[in-house]
Amino acid sequence: MILEKYSFGIGDRFGRQAKAQLAALIKAKQQGLEITPVWNKSYREHTIIGTKPADTRKEADQAVAACGWDGPYFVDADHIALMNVDQFIEASDFFTLDVADFIGRPVAESDIARFVKKHSKYIGTLEIAGIGRRLKFGREQVEAIATKFLSAVMQAGKIYRHIRRARGADNFIIEVSMDETDQPQTPVELFFVLSAIADEGIPAQTIAPKFAGRFNKGVDYVGDVTRFAKQFEADLAVVSFAIKEFGLPRNLKLSIHSGSDKFSIYGPINKALKKFDAGLHLKTAGTTWLEELTGLAMAGGDGLDIAKKVYAKAISRIDELASPYATVIDIDRAKLPAPADVDKWDGLKFASALRHDQSSRDYNPNFRQLLHIAYKIAAEMGQRYLKALAKYEVIIAQNVTENIYERHIRPIFIA
Ligand SMILES: [Zn+2]
Repeated sequence: MILEKYSFGIGDRFGRQAKAQLAALIKAKQQGLEITPVWNKSYREHTIIGTKPADTRKEADQAVAACGWDGPYFVDADHIALMNVDQFIEASDFFTLDVADFIGRPVAESDIARFVKKHSKYIGTLEIAGIGRRLKFGREQVEAIATKFLSAVMQAGKIYRHIRRARGADNFIIEVSMDETDQPQTPVELFFVLSAIADEGIPAQTIAPKFAGRFNKGVDYVGDVTRFAKQFEADLAVVSFAIKEFGLPRNLKLSIHSGSDKFSIYGPINKALKKFDAGLHLKTAGTTWLEELTGLAMAGGDGLDIAKKVYAKAISRIDELASPYATVIDIDRAKLPAPADVDKWDGLKFASALRHDQSSRDYNPNFRQLLHIAYKIAAEMGQRYLKALAKYEVIIAQNVTENIYERHIRPIFIA
């Protein structure tokens, strides 16, 4: 299985928006732009919501049939590890191997020595087309990189071989993700990580490094945009070099996680993809759930009532909701509106506070981030929430499609 040049991760918490999501990609196709949809859902999400990987597969298959989508599509077992991969094996054909927890774990001295010896020809200076400067590193640095990353890559190898035994070779796409960690990886580290991936025989088609800056859930990038642009271009150059150098899959590309809403870096990403003629996989995890809430608020009536209830409960359970997301949200609690005030808002006001429109005076990133992590509350509402999604399907679908196409696909891939 080969992943196409451009692909887009469309997470869907409640599994009701696949058609509306696909509509955005159909719109892109009508403009001559082929983007492969990938429905991704992590073990964490399935657990919180109470869904199963088979539900994601069913949702994707049904949407593809209903919309007459004749292109490729995939179902991604997102951020899986050896201990939970088994329940995804049948329903998924894309596996994101999350080995961030294994970064820095001890490995045998002999493994490190073998790695350094095998790659000793790179020690010194390395010229990679497209970077514009020579990468310099000594033996100690290569040793340090091996010490830090070998365990993670070896773990990825274990998970990959486990899946291959169950599904057979070439029957699935592999992504290696190292994004959920504190330290961003440098282009030199990425270079050696890719060499280790090749040594392990993992046919990775996407790699998700941790980039510099903060990729908070549902809000804009926080960090130095110029620095990001430089790193992103250097990473693209490294990937392209590593493919030839290490014999990795020719379509290997970068994957950006928590990629939704990072409006300030979409311009540099667009430019870099064109400059390097490179592909990209972009994951937009929680965006669709926020569009559901926006649509419900705009619908008024029971829809608005549900949106307000979710917010009121989220405020009262903020610590519980925030704890699994501590490293990927920054909520200034002093700037959260009081639930009693929100209760007086009309649907437009609620939608304007929530919708990520930085030019709007009503937009409140703290309000948005809290709601981003509050999907557990909607899940607890059960049928009441799901019935409202069905009742207000049209207005919600408009928001879902517009958000993906106008605010994401257009600036990243078209501009
Ligand atoms: Zn991720």
